[in-house]
Amino acid sequence: MDEKRKILLKSLPKIDEVILLLEKKDIYSRASREIVKEMSQKVVQKLRDEIVNSSPTEKMKSNLDAANVAQTVEKLIKDLQSCRLQRLVNATGVILHTNLGRAPLSPEALQRILEVGSGYSNLEFDLIRGERGNRYDHVRDIICTLTGAEDALIVNNNAAAVLLVLNTLAEGKEAIVSRGELIEIGGEFRIPEVMQKSAAILREVGTTNRTRLSDYEKAVCAATGLILKVHTSNYRIIGFTEEADIVALTALGKKKGIPVVDDLGSGCLLDLEKYGLQHEPTVREVVATGIDVVTFSGDKLLGGPQAGIIVGKKNILELIKRNPLNRALRIDKFTLAALEATLIHYLNPDQAVSALRPLKSLTEPVTDVKKRASKLISILRKEKFTSLEYSLNNSFSSAGGGSLPLEKIPTVLVGVKNKNLSANRLEARLRQAAVPIIVRVDKDEILLDLRTVTEDEFGFIIEGFRKCL
Ligand SMILES: *Cc1c(COP(=O)(O)O)cnc(C)c1O
Repeated sequence: MDEKRKILLKSLPKIDEVILLLEKKDIYSRASREIVKEMSQKVVQKLRDEIVNSSPTEKMKSNLDAANVAQTVEKLIKDLQSCRLQRLVNATGVILHTNLGRAPLSPEALQRILEVGSGYSNLEFDLIRGERGNRYDHVRDIICTLTGAEDALIVNNNAAAVLLVLNTLAEGKEAIVSRGELIEIGGEFRIPEVMQKSAAILREVGTTNRTRLSDYEKAVCAATGLILKVHTSNYRIIGFTEEADIVALTALGKKKGIPVVDDLGSGCLLDLEKYGLQHEPTVREVVATGIDVVTFSGDKLLGGPQAGIIVGKKNILELIKRNPLNRALRIDKFTLAALEATLIHYLNPDQAVSALRPLKSLTEPVTDVKKRASKLISILRKEKFTSLEYSLNNSFSSAGGGSLPLEKIPTVLVGVKNKNLSANRLEARLRQAAVPIIVRVDKDEILLDLRTVTEDEFGFIIEGFRKCL
């Protein structure tokens, strides 16, 4: 080792010296002795590695005193103390954005989480009989009322629901699926891979664009465990196409004594056509075909917490409930509390549309979105940000979250140009605001889609611009 390095290594501060400085800054009110010590050792070790592995620089030398190290440690601990999972403003116009947490919850759902989570609860306790109860009982009646199903079970998410159903009904057996429905939903959910993990054997039938009832019928054999229909949530095959409808498939299953399952993806509980959108099959419609099992998400169109809802025939649901895998996939009390409150909104569909933000965003008249956009501009103008220029633009929002892939929902965007800052720079700064603002970028301007922004969030946007200009 050369002389320079040796000198640098010798001037590394002693851990005790660093800790003494940190104690003066009252560090133990932030973290324990063990954490402070370990963190200090790590920072010094990192400096040591730098000296050994790279060519020594003047800058390195200046970083070596105890005060510098103490400052680094203090900053690392402060960083750990601030929550990284944060609320933000989604101005992208993608209503169910999986990366942005999908559905915001209704005030009632949030209130229920607070109430149930603040104390003990009857999660698995039957208050009438005074004995052990079942966590699924709290929402079963309302789900059955809303969907017409005989029975219901809730797990962690829809991916878990599909896994559990496949494993229960087709472990070591064949699951028949159309080649046009071997979907991938973002984030590693691919039907063939889920199938493999469930220990069901994928039996593909038909072609990408056309699958007939007779294709399923020919594939049925002694090894068949179930027939699976998968809703093509995030794409459509159009043109020369054919698929077996669910009524015919259900009849085929009955004839052959094989359960039929529909992975519906987005759990639509109301008729979206009534609100001017494309028809999306509702859970009730699918259940009414007499199908054995339907699975869907809690946090897509349904507008609730992350959950996978399984509804269907009582005898089959009993089998699914008894699968030991169910215990590993079970949902917690917060989810149940929020889901219950979310479902209560649906007893009155118009109330659901006004209380649940994804539904409200999907169905709000574009004239109202425009009013909000104009209001945002007038508020921004009052702030006198001299470098900014504003515009109103007509455009389209999308449902996202693997729902209504072809729906182009008219919207109004607020365009913001900054004379001194590129659009990409402005976007990045807003993204790092105290309450981050996530926007679209188009050439030299940023675009805020007001369909996914509420008036309550204007304050965050103003604050975001104030801090980043
Ligand atoms: C979204 C989706 C899933 C996965 O649901 P998660 O709730 O995200 O786990 C599975 N199948 C279909 C058809 C979907 O649209």
